[in-house]
Amino acid sequence: MTERETFGGAYIPEMLWETLQQLIAAFEKAKRDPEFQKEFRDLLKNFSGRPTPLIFAERATKKLGGAKIYLKNEGANHTGAHKITHCLGQGLLAKKLGKKMLIAETGAGQHGVATATVAAKLGLECVVFMGNEDIRRQRPNVFLMERLGAKVIPVEYGSKTLKDAVNEALKFWMENLEKAHYCIGSVLGPKPYPEMNRYFQSIIGREIRSELQEREGKLPDVVVACVGGGSNAIGSFYDFVPESSVRLIGVEAGGIGKKVGQHASRKIAGVLGIFQGYKSLFLQTDDGQIAPTHSISAGLDYPGLGPELADLYQEGRLELTYALDTEAVAAVDFFAKLEGVISALESAHALAHVIKIAPKMKKDHIIVATLSGRGDKDLFNFARAFKDKSFRDFLKDEYNRYD
Ligand SMILES: *Cc1c(COP(=O)(O)O)cnc(C)c1O
Repeated sequence: MTERETFGGAYIPEMLWETLQQLIAAFEKAKRDPEFQKEFRDLLKNFSGRPTPLIFAERATKKLGGAKIYLKNEGANHTGAHKITHCLGQGLLAKKLGKKMLIAETGAGQHGVATATVAAKLGLECVVFMGNEDIRRQRPNVFLMERLGAKVIPVEYGSKTLKDAVNEALKFWMENLEKAHYCIGSVLGPKPYPEMNRYFQSIIGREIRSELQEREGKLPDVVVACVGGGSNAIGSFYDFVPESSVRLIGVEAGGIGKKVGQHASRKIAGVLGIFQGYKSLFLQTDDGQIAPTHSISAGLDYPGLGPELADLYQEGRLELTYALDTEAVAAVDFFAKLEGVISALESAHALAHVIKIAPKMKKDHIIVATLSGRGDKDLFNFARAFKDKSFRDFLKDEYNRYD
């Protein structure tokens, strides 16, 4: 790009305009409403379990022999990842707007589970759109959503994956604008979603700052987070944007190679485009269609970069890099054995980068890596990645126990 681009915006059908204006107004009001703030803080503390711990990774630090490593453990949240935070925020706003239902679309099902959890907690109906192909691959999450009382609606057309689920969810929303709030799962979509979800998630960075102040009496030198759409990353970074001494590094999915369809890195191949109502960098075909992506981690397997992150990247404030599938799996193993932390595959991309840079940094420097989620949800993927034969036998036995 030669000229400075403004990312974001609201590229939406006119029918949605009024609804989005109402959401913007409710969000602006909520920011100044002590009652909303109190309810949100109460849910974060007494439902999700915040503040999440900042773990000093002492043995990993010793082993790598460089910077001091801290892990911000968002995996300690209820439901196992940071996603619950912006779902709670949106759920509360939806109630203020008098909505009775949350709509979500989900690929891997993680956002679906977080939305269904919040809907159950707040007494809202929940409808989740999911491609048929994803339903087949992510059966455990479908099961959980249904237990939480959500209706999971299969999308049978197109590639039967996330982008088709988005289309279907939008269609359903336009038919139910009065009743339903569309709960978007990252710092994506039209205004005000990117700013709104960042606002909710920025508690991560504020906690990092105060926890580290208490432990070390200073700012981190580097903050690292994985980037799918970008919510855990911008949540971790936002408080440090004005602190020019703090390097901000986002780690994308390098997948298995640099060709189209082998990765999900906008640094490698992102091109300016418009999709899902916002302008940003997307992985695209030459015709401007959304390109296929690949990552071992479902949460990073997404073509677009949150517009506020695209801004920071364009300004040079944010560095982007990537980690390969194999590096992420190795990082899970490394931190499991040294720190007793089994990371989600998404977060393991950030950890893989820590393994690369920590040894080159001074011993009095501090890296904070955000552990966006815990690894329980990746059990089946891990078993396959580590080629664990006895796990396969277990699955067979389990199958035979069914009647
Ligand atoms: C969904 C997810 C991500 C990716 O989403 P962001 O919006 O980029 O944070 C990362 N980690 C985990 C554990 C997730 O569930």
